[in-house]
Amino acid sequence: MFEYQNHDMEREISSESGSIVQLVKQKQTNVPMAKKLIPLEVKPVIQSKILDELKVLQELKSPYLVEFYGAYASNEGINICMEYMDGGSMDLVLKKVNRVPENILGKIAESVLMGLYLIRESHDLNHNNLKPSNILVNTKGLIKISDIEVSVDLTKEKFIENLQPKCYYSPEKISGLSSKLNGDVWSLGLSLVEMAIGRYPIPVPSEDEIVNLFQNDPQGLSSRSEDASSIQSMTIFEILEYILNKPPPSLPKSCFSEEFLDFLDTCLRKEPSERGDLKSLLQHRFIQKYKNEPVDTVISWINKIKQSSQLFYI
Ligand code: ADP
Repeated sequence: MFEYQNHDMEREISSESGSIVQLVKQKQTNVPMAKKLIPLEVKPVIQSKILDELKVLQELKSPYLVEFYGAYASNEGINICMEYMDGGSMDLVLKKVNRVPENILGKIAESVLMGLYLIRESHDLNHNNLKPSNILVNTKGLIKISDIEVSVDLTKEKFIENLQPKCYYSPEKISGLSSKLNGDVWSLGLSLVEMAIGRYPIPVPSEDEIVNLFQNDPQGLSSRSEDASSIQSMTIFEILEYILNKPPPSLPKSCFSEEFLDFLDTCLRKEPSERGDLKSLLQHRFIQKYKNEPVDTVISWINKIKQSSQLFYI
């Protein structure tokens, strides 16, 4: 058995989002792992229930899912040990480059849909918290999703945290309705728009803003300047109201392919029954267009980003 609890700390990866993520190494095998500590003040009985609910994640093994090794409780909260993804998460990538090129977005969309399809087919699960920080990449060119919400109690504890400072929940979930019918597809659409333009797409960017971005950085590989990542200053309540009442984001034809724009349009329908489902989206022309793009494309893209931000990825 893989003793995930037995590890040495290497370095902290992130402590920005309420939880603390560290790179650790398993003592006997030296296998690198990402350990996420979720600080929780709950009764021991709830803690055991959460650990029990998380066990299902051990059954989910696929090249499209970040592998879950196991979880345990400590005085500080719940510790989750998982596969370490050495290219980081897409929110991290977007702190280093202005935007993600469309061919890479095609590979991301395909991998995310495959991951979502697999958890739905094998365990009747939805992800329920899909966003750029839960889409990770490694230097083998694999793109995987993490943080599938399987614990009702943990979801309850993290609900408010998950809404801030940006919201990827579908309009029906924001309204308190079930988002089981393709709520994840909405979140994928919104995440793809964010990766395509390099900023959270609420409020919806003007065409000029995007055209300028493309003129200044045609390949999408220029390093991001410090101020370019600033988020629009809307409160979370303004963002929720905007998602509920305004048209969903769309992108200009002059900068993106017709296939990508149609894919986004199918994901970002406010009415869930009009949204594409996982199976049909996997057959979509946008996915087919980049399906045969070799894995080397992703490898050289992520390596270029890593090389140009050495200090960041120590
Ligand atoms: P959030 O709550 O916003 O989803 P997390 O607490 O899950 O964020 O993760 C915070 C950061 O830690 C991520 O943005 C990512 O950079 C890093 N991280 C999380 N999981 C892993 C992993 N398995 N491998 C490498 N980095 C990770």
